[in-house]
Amino acid sequence: MTELTTAPLIERAARFANRVAIDAGEGRFRYADLLRDSASAAAVLLDGRASLGGARVAFLIRPSYAWVVAQWAAWRAGGVAVPLCLAHPEPELDYVVEDSGAEILIVEPELRDRLAPIAARRSLQLTSSNALLSATAAAELPAVDTEAGALLIYTSGTTSRPKGVLTTHASVAAQIRSLVAAWEWSSEDRILLVLPLHHVHGVINVLGCSLWSGAACEMLPAFDAKEVWRRFADSDLTLFMAVPTIYSKLIREWEGLPEPHRHELSKACDRFRLMVSGSAALPVSTLERWREISGHLLLERYGMTEIGMALSNPLHGERRPGHVGTPLPGVEIRRLDERGTPATDDSPAELQVRGPSVFREYWQKPEATAAAFRDGWFLTGDVAVVDGGSYRLLGRNSVDIIKTGGFKVSALEIEEKLREHPAIEECAVVGLPDDEWGERVGAAVVLAGGCEIEIDELRTWCKERLATYKAPSRLLTVDELPRNVLGKVTKSDIVRLFAPRERAGD
Ligand code: AMP
Repeated sequence: MTELTTAPLIERAARFANRVAIDAGEGRFRYADLLRDSASAAAVLLDGRASLGGARVAFLIRPSYAWVVAQWAAWRAGGVAVPLCLAHPEPELDYVVEDSGAEILIVEPELRDRLAPIAARRSLQLTSSNALLSATAAAELPAVDTEAGALLIYTSGTTSRPKGVLTTHASVAAQIRSLVAAWEWSSEDRILLVLPLHHVHGVINVLGCSLWSGAACEMLPAFDAKEVWRRFADSDLTLFMAVPTIYSKLIREWEGLPEPHRHELSKACDRFRLMVSGSAALPVSTLERWREISGHLLLERYGMTEIGMALSNPLHGERRPGHVGTPLPGVEIRRLDERGTPATDDSPAELQVRGPSVFREYWQKPEATAAAFRDGWFLTGDVAVVDGGSYRLLGRNSVDIIKTGGFKVSALEIEEKLREHPAIEECAVVGLPDDEWGERVGAAVVLAGGCEIEIDELRTWCKERLATYKAPSRLLTVDELPRNVLGKVTKSDIVRLFAPRERAGD
């Protein structure tokens, strides 16, 4: 165990004291402000104790300076930060508070009503984020053990309730260091945060890397396409990171603008040095359209709450559309075949990950933790091949690898092809249970304006482009695809949407 006086991320801040750390709705704050304010907020949380000793500090705060102060205060007081999801309804928030065993609850005043009943039920005091910000208390802050828990982030499985993924200060630092090295972050960078802060993408890749590097993080309380384009035009941003649906929304917004304005916004993209996509598969069509609009070839990367980022296309060098690149610094990846020997590049196999960035445990779920590792390697559940030296994801083992008539097919591959169909705007492919085939390939599609499509016609079209067994045999037209707050399509919901039709023998 290594004892530090504070978390590695916070320990670095003094060297950037006079630089801007956060530029948010409340104003502009330097690293020195963050150090001062988080120390007095930590003193409030300690409330006379020497250390929180790993107590969970849950907070419901929109992306803001107050959010960062709450996170740093939790860490500096010796607690584990549990950022709550703003989009969660009360039962979900209640579940996370209960499961994490949070002892301290912090809430932004405007959101107080959402946590008040939960706090009351557990006789917990609700601390206002504003009160923390204006605190002037002082206390001796405890030393922080790098192997102590730092972050508890809840992640949804397809079948079970969300699990708390516990990462230590050491693993948070390793996740950040890897990205800072690979994407060459520096204190000259300025990034726009548009992602929620209850997920690794926003917490680690954007905010964590920015603060580690002495860079400036400009924050929007929530994503808004118009506002993002305005910031692109008006701010000295150098970096942007988002999920594919955000890029799609930005594309749509741009396409709806008059020509001179479009041109001006496209020109504004010149000043960025890097734009990144991840957390879900980036459709090649989105990548291409974004390149036409912004001049940037998006860097696609792959990661997971449990491991941080694992694979990335290169900052310099060829970025291959539809691929997620090679292992990031410090990350070991292996793929084994059924006999336990290394799989050949072209055979699909699960990605297994090892390294200092891997999480410690699923919170209070020792069986789930044990089942998630084999010989010290984390089993991601994501299946990939290596294609010309670069990894290509085929999807989640459980939902995206469809077993039909003895063949294993990748939902992601079929989706990529379906998006080329002129009538299809968006789509999601799932496996539907079937007595004869094991599973049938089902496609839920959102049609382009004024278009129609029939299953027979779609099958004929697919068979000219894909192996016959990959052509969907079930088609469902929907107005929009069900997605989670991060914009990821929730495939279990899609399977359920098919279900009434399947039962009716359609
Ligand atoms: P989360 O823990 O919420 O970040 O979800 C992680 C999962 O998102 C991974 O296990 C993958 O299935 C998926 N994912 C992340 N990045 C990508 C990507 N670039 N392409 C396809 N799927 C991705």
